[in-house]
Amino acid sequence: MSADITIYTQNERIRAMLCALAEKYPAAQCELNYDNPFHLLVAVILSAQCTDKRVNEVTKELFKVYDTPADFASADIEKLQSLIFSCGFYRNKSASIISASRDIVARFNGEVPSDFDNLLSLKGVGRKTANVVMSVAFGGNNIAVDTHVYRVSRRLGLSGGKTPFDVEKDLMSTIDERDWSEVHHLLIFHGRYCCKSQRPLCSECPVSVHCVNSPAVTHT
Ligand code: SF4
Repeated sequence: MSADITIYTQNERIRAMLCALAEKYPAAQCELNYDNPFHLLVAVILSAQCTDKRVNEVTKELFKVYDTPADFASADIEKLQSLIFSCGFYRNKSASIISASRDIVARFNGEVPSDFDNLLSLKGVGRKTANVVMSVAFGGNNIAVDTHVYRVSRRLGLSGGKTPFDVEKDLMSTIDERDWSEVHHLLIFHGRYCCKSQRPLCSECPVSVHCVNSPAVTHT
């Protein structure tokens, strides 16, 4: 056996990957603009299948018209649709925002709940949205599996899960809980800026040596 071959345990491999990603993306964090947990919740709902840049452009104007959960709860849905139109899926997104807002007003006295189960119980709020709000707004240890986290986790061999929830469970079982939120942001940044959906930039990838899909690595 060659002396310079490094044999990694699975834990060492994951640790080395995360260190390399942390070095590459020292500013990895939520790129959505928000003033409070409710604005973040709205922004995350709008961000499905849309760029954070576009969402930030839309929410900058949107929150001048509708600001609080009470405002959105009584919003005119056609007006809301026109305001968020450019984010895509504007019918579903406006319905989700109004439903969640009504729930927050009716069940939580107008305050976004700060525990995961209550967040997830809001109409129109899915698991990814609840995890992002918990992690970013309330400092929880959560892994939100969006399209980037799902794709990168599978490419890196961190999960073979066939659904976002399966990937979330795999990541939670193999990564230290205290690192979950940071890992979530690192995987998003890596998916957004390097391990892109159609054309991953493998020649620039800081974790290619660990990647089961890297063209630079021969797997037997
Ligand atoms: S080597 Fe390529 S496919 Fe693997 S994580 Fe890096 S960019 Fe993605």
